[in-house]
Amino acid sequence: MASMLQPQIILLKEGTDTSQGKAQVVSNINACTAVADTVRTTLGPCGMDKLIHDDKGGTTISNDGATIMRLLDIVHPAAKILVDIAKSQDSEVGDGTTTVVLLAAEFLKEAKPYIEDGVHPHSLIRSYRTAGHLAIEKVKELAVSIEGKSLEEKKSLLAKCAATTLSSKLIGGEKEFFAPMVVDAVLAIGNDDRLNLIGIKKVPGGTMRDSFLVNGVAFKKTFSYAGFEQQPKKFLNPKILLLNIELELKSEKENAEIRLSDPMQYQSIVDAEWNIIYDKLDKCVKSGAKIVLSRLAIGDLATQYFADRDIFCAGRVAEEDLQRVAAATGGTVQTSVNNVVDEVLGSCEVFEEKQVGNERFNIFSGCPSGQTATIVLRGGADQFIEEAERSLHDAIMIVRRALKNSTVVPGGGAIDMEVSKYLRQHARTIAGKSQFFVNSFAKALEVIPRQLCDNAGFDATDVLNKLRQKHASGEGANYGVDILTGGIADSLANFVWEPAVVKINAINAATEAACLILSVDETVKNPKSESAQGDAAASAMGGRGRGGAAMRGRGGRGMRRR
Ligand code: ADP
Ligand code: MG
Repeated sequence: MASMLQPQIILLKEGTDTSQGKAQVVSNINACTAVADTVRTTLGPCGMDKLIHDDKGGTTISNDGATIMRLLDIVHPAAKILVDIAKSQDSEVGDGTTTVVLLAAEFLKEAKPYIEDGVHPHSLIRSYRTAGHLAIEKVKELAVSIEGKSLEEKKSLLAKCAATTLSSKLIGGEKEFFAPMVVDAVLAIGNDDRLNLIGIKKVPGGTMRDSFLVNGVAFKKTFSYAGFEQQPKKFLNPKILLLNIELELKSEKENAEIRLSDPMQYQSIVDAEWNIIYDKLDKCVKSGAKIVLSRLAIGDLATQYFADRDIFCAGRVAEEDLQRVAAATGGTVQTSVNNVVDEVLGSCEVFEEKQVGNERFNIFSGCPSGQTATIVLRGGADQFIEEAERSLHDAIMIVRRALKNSTVVPGGGAIDMEVSKYLRQHARTIAGKSQFFVNSFAKALEVIPRQLCDNAGFDATDVLNKLRQKHASGEGANYGVDILTGGIADSLANFVWEPAVVKINAINAATEAACLILSVDETVKNPKSESAQGDAAASAMGGRGRGGAAMRGRGGRGMRRR
């Protein structure tokens, strides 16, 4: 079930408020609330997906806050800030994008009555900043470390984190299948920071469970010429030559000018061309490589030449794939075939060309440096596989973060409730109106468990009361919403885990965004866009003027005819 959304329906340019002062702050807050309302229902395992279609006829189904916000094309200047924090959360930690938007909007919503009552925004901002710092300190304090565990234990713990991320996605039903796969992929690339070392290849067709992980590189068979079928399709321990040159017979007749005195010399020119290409091919063969890959074209002559010598070749390999083959097999991409020494050749245990669904894949497995992994994704519709890819990306990021920072917090709103309780307690020690503001901040944090309940169809008030009571009792720090029964449960024991960095980053970014929006009391269009509009208006006026002249002209003709 996905609700329909049309891009660009919220807050178009015409609606931009140009008021000042209190009214402007309130109007910005309303805009942000409207934005948050569009992603609100996607939060959590029972969250709904959004189907977004654009005017080019493309459709996207997504549950990812950042993706939805990006596609909505929001034009309201203040609400854009929320889009930016969702994006930054996505690139910084990869998950928690809906969370960050909801938190920011809720902080603002709590601030609205105070602003309306005439509280100066800076009093609010100051209290919010303090509360934000305290909240982050508390999250750090509550985080549980997974350091010092054995590899097997660590693997299962990381899989739990991946499963929590995946549970809110379209492929949530298959999280048990994908979570270990994601963990294996991330562990395969080790400490390397380059995300593109994990390739995700999408092959429509089959079921999700036909997806598989290649410990190495896999890419779709490239375009090939006649002779290709005679090449062997499987090698054990082959040497691999990676090139960035064309292996094609270049006919120079169009772009070279040669003066011949004797027609017999013509043959020598033709021969020279053949000699150049044969020389290149010969050098490739002599290098001892059994597999030749090139980023540029490998023509029919070369294909046949290699086929006759039991060598496999593939031309027009995508840059990204070639780089991954280089990283995995330990080879170096060559820009010339002169002097191909053994060191620049890569190697792997098994190379194979395999049929996956309708496509043929070149698969390199058992690679020595082993620093790559490829997930081949299967599934029905295109939109489905694309959303699956985005979801896996979230899970991959989460596992990497968890691996790096190795602290986790209980999910399902447990951490939010605990921090909220702590802030409320802290507020009591503050004298003056700041007490109210810190309290509001604490209340805003409860939006996460409340929304989880709302999206699952539970009675939010009831569940929240139970949670407040449990947390207040002092022993229920890990209790969050139980998405299965509609009650409350120990999230840590149920393995609903999130890396601490997701929450820390979300609270930080949401607080900053809320403070930023609160501090804006006037929107001024820059003079350039103003004058551009002025021009447009003037030309519209001119058009009307011409229209007037034309009308007069017709009138004139009418006069003459009479
Ligand atoms: P985001 O874009 O912010 O990551 P999600 O839709 O992924 O939003 O939802 C994340 C929220 O769902 C987190 O607060 C997480 O704790 C919660 N969550 C995930 N899995 C479960 C579960 N099995 N039970 C309860 N809460 C869960
Ligand atoms: Mg998520």
